[in-house]
Amino acid sequence: MNIWSLLFLPFVCWHPFHHEVTAMPVEQQLHQYTQQGSIIKRVQTDHRWIALTFDDGPDPQETIEILDILKQYQAKATFFVVGEQVTKYPDIIRREVSEGHELANHTYSHTNFNHLSKEQVKQEIVKSENEILSITGRQTTLFRPPGGYYNDLIMMTAEQLGYSVILWTWYQDSKDWSKPGVHQIVKRVISNAHPGDIVLFHDRISGKSQTANALKVILPELQKQGYRFVTISQLMDSNQIRYQIGEN
Ligand SMILES: [Zn+2]
Repeated sequence: MNIWSLLFLPFVCWHPFHHEVTAMPVEQQLHQYTQQGSIIKRVQTDHRWIALTFDDGPDPQETIEILDILKQYQAKATFFVVGEQVTKYPDIIRREVSEGHELANHTYSHTNFNHLSKEQVKQEIVKSENEILSITGRQTTLFRPPGGYYNDLIMMTAEQLGYSVILWTWYQDSKDWSKPGVHQIVKRVISNAHPGDIVLFHDRISGKSQTANALKVILPELQKQGYRFVTISQLMDSNQIRYQIGEN
């Protein structure tokens, strides 16, 4: 256990639709999984590459606005979509794929995974996968549990289904869901930017989001600093060595 691990823990369960999540992962589990490299929070890379991730969509307003901005700056991102939303807005899913973004699994109903059985966890993942597959014809390989909450059962199930479990770099939680102000979101992301970071945003929150306006500042500023925005898979392919928490 080291200082970085301690700093990471309070960030794990904050998420706009995750108020129901009460349990924190135990330190031992966190250490174990990060040591094994089976949870990815950051990727070691020689490139000035960053992965932007957007959770909980698609949303007919927020996602469209975000896609327009990403297109303007030729930035690629990863969308951790919720199956129920995928069913409602298949055209947005098709647009995400056609514009070079990556789709990833964020469960079907975004329910609290804390007390689910193995079979229920499996159903949540598979049902979402089937929705995505029916629209895109492609399978996803990345999974992020609601709220970033995980335990042995969730990890084992996701891995047995062939997924890599992706969280986010502990200092790159934009906290956009809490609507802290565009300036705060911008500052949090830009002041902490490092190559290989995985940044957490949301493209569906309760009420009007500040995320799109923050991106209008973040994207040109980081590009000016030489950064390029890539999908999680592109970032992972840039270097096979994954960061462990103590090496952040
Ligand atoms: Zn979520």
